[in-house]
Amino acid sequence: MPIQVTNLTHTYSAGSALQSTALHDVSLSIEDGEFVCIVGHTGSGKSTLVQHLNGLLKPTSGRILVDGEDMNGDKVDKKRIRQKVGLVFQYPEYQLFEETVARDIAFGPKNQGLSAEEIDRRVRAAMAHVHLDYDKYAERSPFELSGGQMRRVAIAGVLAMEPRYLILDEPTAGLDPKGRDRILGMIQELHREGRTTVVMVSHSMDDCARLATRMIVMSKGTVLMSDTPRAVFAQADAMREAGLGVPAAAQLCEKLRARGLDLPHDLYTQEELHAHLLRLWKEAAHA
Ligand code: ADP
Ligand code: MG
Repeated sequence: MPIQVTNLTHTYSAGSALQSTALHDVSLSIEDGEFVCIVGHTGSGKSTLVQHLNGLLKPTSGRILVDGEDMNGDKVDKKRIRQKVGLVFQYPEYQLFEETVARDIAFGPKNQGLSAEEIDRRVRAAMAHVHLDYDKYAERSPFELSGGQMRRVAIAGVLAMEPRYLILDEPTAGLDPKGRDRILGMIQELHREGRTTVVMVSHSMDDCARLATRMIVMSKGTVLMSDTPRAVFAQADAMREAGLGVPAAAQLCEKLRARGLDLPHDLYTQEELHAHLLRLWKEAAHA
């Protein structure tokens, strides 16, 4: 059970007038090799949850185990656990601060006390992963780059730690379609290579439909559903109640069903819908 969250409750500003409980008794686990997409309406607790997975926030109550070790245990080496669980914040480019791209990416590995050669290897490998040419960009200032490139530098900084678990909080927020595709393609590649388990907070149901092996649907600080995209998107009403939609293909299915077309409830990708309609059309043509 690689990451296990048990009865996690988090209350911000406990005891003050601003006290608010963002997570209520949340239990879930992340298995090796999964690509988990976390979805939920704004304020449902997604960011609060993922910030517990690398120890940035401490539970008010409950536990987070990483490979069986209590993240917040007294004797645990927190630095070592954090190195296993890499967290890419929302708008991570705001945290860039070094004079050059290479130095920014090297920051984490340097803190780990790695040798100069190993740091250099990590920086080059991380830049290759985010498709930034080393010779062209290593010595540039990150602040001269485009928004999408800055975000890739920030993600490379986390990859350079070679985390086994990569957690990303809305990694495509605010990017144009091209920038979004680049980032998602890159995350998909990392996952496919098989070295990284991915947990990604997303607001795009279509991205979840395409990428997730499992979805966790949050609502008001609790886990409403945890299942395959197919099972989750078959619950269009429950998703609506949680303030969420379903992918475009599933929406179209609903409309077609409302007009009397007999379509299954678990179609959710464009390809599936296309294949299904084509079959119906062929049957009708041969009838
Ligand atoms: P999401 O990422 O799903 O939008 P968040 O985890 O950011 O949700 O927020 C969950 C709840 O916790 C919201 O009601 C939000 O207002 C509250 N919250 C988030 N961060 C803080 C904070 N630093 N202090 C107080 N309340 C917070
Ligand atoms: Mg958030």
